[in-house]
Amino acid sequence: MSTKTKRFILPESEIPTRWYNVMADMPNKPMPPLNPATKQPLKASDLYPIFAEALADQEMNQTDPWIDIPDEVREQYKNYRCTPLVRAYGLEKALGTPAHIYFKNESVSPVGSHKLNSALAQAYYCKRQGVTNITTETGAGQWGAALSYAAKAFGLELAVYMVKISYEQKPYRRSIMQTFGAQVTASPSMSTKAGRKILTEHPNHQGSLGTAISEAIELAMSTPNCKYTLGSVLSHVTLHQTIIGLEAEKQMEMAGEYPDLIIGCFGGGSNFGGISFPFMRHTLREGRKTRYIAAEPDSCPKLTRGVFRYDFGDEAGYTPLLPMFTLGHNFAPANIHAGGLRYHGAGVIVSQLLKDKLMEAVDIPQLESFDAGCLFAQTEGIIPAPESCHAIAAAVREARKCTESGEPKVILFNLSGHGLIDMAAYDKYLAGDLVNYSLSDEQIKRNIGELDAIG
Ligand SMILES: *Cc1c(COP(=O)(O)O)cnc(C)c1O
Repeated sequence: MSTKTKRFILPESEIPTRWYNVMADMPNKPMPPLNPATKQPLKASDLYPIFAEALADQEMNQTDPWIDIPDEVREQYKNYRCTPLVRAYGLEKALGTPAHIYFKNESVSPVGSHKLNSALAQAYYCKRQGVTNITTETGAGQWGAALSYAAKAFGLELAVYMVKISYEQKPYRRSIMQTFGAQVTASPSMSTKAGRKILTEHPNHQGSLGTAISEAIELAMSTPNCKYTLGSVLSHVTLHQTIIGLEAEKQMEMAGEYPDLIIGCFGGGSNFGGISFPFMRHTLREGRKTRYIAAEPDSCPKLTRGVFRYDFGDEAGYTPLLPMFTLGHNFAPANIHAGGLRYHGAGVIVSQLLKDKLMEAVDIPQLESFDAGCLFAQTEGIIPAPESCHAIAAAVREARKCTESGEPKVILFNLSGHGLIDMAAYDKYLAGDLVNYSLSDEQIKRNIGELDAIG
């Protein structure tokens, strides 16, 4: 038997005790969120009516590099952490590349994605504050599934507004949420003012994240002891996800290597930041040369082709104004299968880092993402989430460059989730029914132009 190690496994006792807050080490901190009415900077306490106080404080914390992970959350992490770091020998061989490819396998969480890392933390802080009910919205259902698990773990009631078209087309994630005891409502619904208004004007409205967010926020604001939660984009979500990179750092040490390149797929930035930021602290503090690459779909290219400006975090314009790379909150992404990447903007930390050229971004066409996902399934035995396929495709591109140059670069990517509940998307790919949705410069300009008109 060969002595090559395939999986680098850390024991429970090595679950990190602190999350890493990259804002403390950033040369230029993100600019503050603004109140849309007054354009004045917001303080953490301005967010208390909507979010648990500890989470609002974490959101605005630009000074403390380390935040303790509560014991109760670490106890829950034991159900699936530490996750394995895996050397992708099969993929390397298929590509004939001298690169060493590693992936962090977040698909082993009970709900199949990294989202549980933040769901457990958010549910815990709500519970600790005496909150009894939480709300959220979900598109494809990954965040809703993770939060349902976490709400049950900490004894909270959860109401999820699920975009109506997904509710009907993706029944299994709805079943997962219901199995964990969450109440799932197709949005728009008659249960809120916002939903009733939409339904009376457009009785056949199929729903969107924007409408689901407004319903979830309205319910949180009008219910005593109820808070709203979010699964990506915000800085506290990315903070919780740094557990991925902190474990990976120890595991790369076990492998005796250090990554030259770190890659994550990009929706709002939480799994990309989660794997990257702990390594980035060595770039920021010691000048270590590592490339950090965010892989976004070319149908939703906010990092590579969007603009940096203040914009709303949601379609409906309910959130504070955030300084971000954006295609405009009015941007309607094509209906690609990587539902978790169909978001118009990027979190404020990643946006500032990209502006300061501390990271890079690439666009991946839908077909290339599934080509890479199938190659990965056939060589490594794991069917990746359509979102994760974008990270794999970016890793494959880089590994191919190594084949040409002969350089044995060390590539690390995050496998954010598995695709076993997304087989309808694979069916379409295998049947040849999937297409690319590249955007013209005209389309992008027009959309951002509309944003300027809104002000
Ligand atoms: C939600 C999701 C994403 C995108 O969200 P980020 O916050 O950018 O990480 C990526 N992969 C999977 C599997 C997801 O569920």
